[in-house]
Amino acid sequence: MTLARSEQAWRVAQQYLAGGVNSPVRAFRAVGGTPPFIARGAGARLFDLDGNEYIDYVCSWGALIAGHAHPDVVERLRRAVERGTSYGAPTELETALARRVVQLFPSIELVRFVNSGTEATMSAIRLARAATGRAKIVKFTGCYHGHADALLATAGSGLLTLGIPSSPGVPPGTAADTVSLPYNRLDVVEGVFSQAGEEIAAVIVEPVAGNMGVVPPAEGFLQGLREVTHRYGALLILDEVITGFRLAPGGAQELYGVQPDLTCLGKILGGGLPVGAYGGRRELMELLAPVGPVYQAGTLSGNPLAMEAGLATLELLRRPGAYERLEALSARLADGLRWAGEQAGVPVTLNRVGSMLTPFFTDGPVTSYESATRADTARYARFHQAMLRRGVYLAPSQFEALFLSLAHGEDEIDRTLEAAEEALREIVSS
Ligand SMILES: *Cc1c(COP(=O)(O)O)cnc(C)c1O
Repeated sequence: MTLARSEQAWRVAQQYLAGGVNSPVRAFRAVGGTPPFIARGAGARLFDLDGNEYIDYVCSWGALIAGHAHPDVVERLRRAVERGTSYGAPTELETALARRVVQLFPSIELVRFVNSGTEATMSAIRLARAATGRAKIVKFTGCYHGHADALLATAGSGLLTLGIPSSPGVPPGTAADTVSLPYNRLDVVEGVFSQAGEEIAAVIVEPVAGNMGVVPPAEGFLQGLREVTHRYGALLILDEVITGFRLAPGGAQELYGVQPDLTCLGKILGGGLPVGAYGGRRELMELLAPVGPVYQAGTLSGNPLAMEAGLATLELLRRPGAYERLEALSARLADGLRWAGEQAGVPVTLNRVGSMLTPFFTDGPVTSYESATRADTARYARFHQAMLRRGVYLAPSQFEALFLSLAHGEDEIDRTLEAAEEALREIVSS
């Protein structure tokens, strides 16, 4: 396998793009080596500039639940693009996608579309602060909610991968209103609320954490957050940018039976185009301009191409058996990886909820940021490289999820497991 053309492209990219990339984790710093430059995707496969083929478990960070270039999505986009790419005026497409979201999420009565998950969480926080007249935000260490200033404190994803506790450039005053608590520790949340509950505008949480690797919520954790926020008049914001439409049609809130005040969506909702959204009860959402005083706007928000890709993707998820298929294939992959770890004598803790999973190279249970960071990241890096050489494209960090799509099949899973058995044997012997 050669990466000659990717290596060349990578050198040029670094001359013109900051760090050679437009999002840090893509640079492969945590796993080493040259990031393959992608020429195209098809179904569950990625193809790089050198013609190497990979089974893709990044799936554009979870956005592509229908796989790459699904014919239905492509066809809708092809037809749409001929009608123009953006109008800056209302379209029926926006209503159609919003109606779909409202049908699927009983906690959402009104929707506002934005262009990224970052915008969704940032705007939801603004709305929560306006609605409560309070400033403080509670988040959880290792959860990532995009790169808005107030939410960068002890966040996950690229910050965790690169060991950045919080970002320079965020004024202390901004971060001072963000309280970061350990995930899955309801007792700690209760403690903070009993001291400062009247100052807290909202608790924001990934209902299944995906950005410190996959960490499921402990039994009763989400229900407890619902209860304590309610008791103190704070809002509960579920950041379902990853989990929305992935874990169930109505997201993690359907799976775990929790009703948040506000929900943030993104990734799958845009079917591979840039989209975010937030939504909630009518009286909250009507605080937004033009009805209410809370300002939030966007030149390309509700972009017709993005709406089409989202509608096509949600349509594919409606087909009978879609979620059952994702569940069965993901279980097969998780069980196989666990078994391969045992065979090779490599301690692997496999966390999985539906079609998102992380093999952590550690033997303890992983229930929080603290336990996630006990994983052997050097070993993950070697595993990643060994898998890439065998044509399997995993997330380039221990602290990210692997995602399956409807385009994955048993053939892909079995080939991945064969590669994993070899790769694990290789990394223990090196
Ligand atoms: C990806 C992600 C975001 C940020 O979305 P962008 O579109 O990258 O801005 C926010 N929250 C969660 C849980 C995410 O996984």
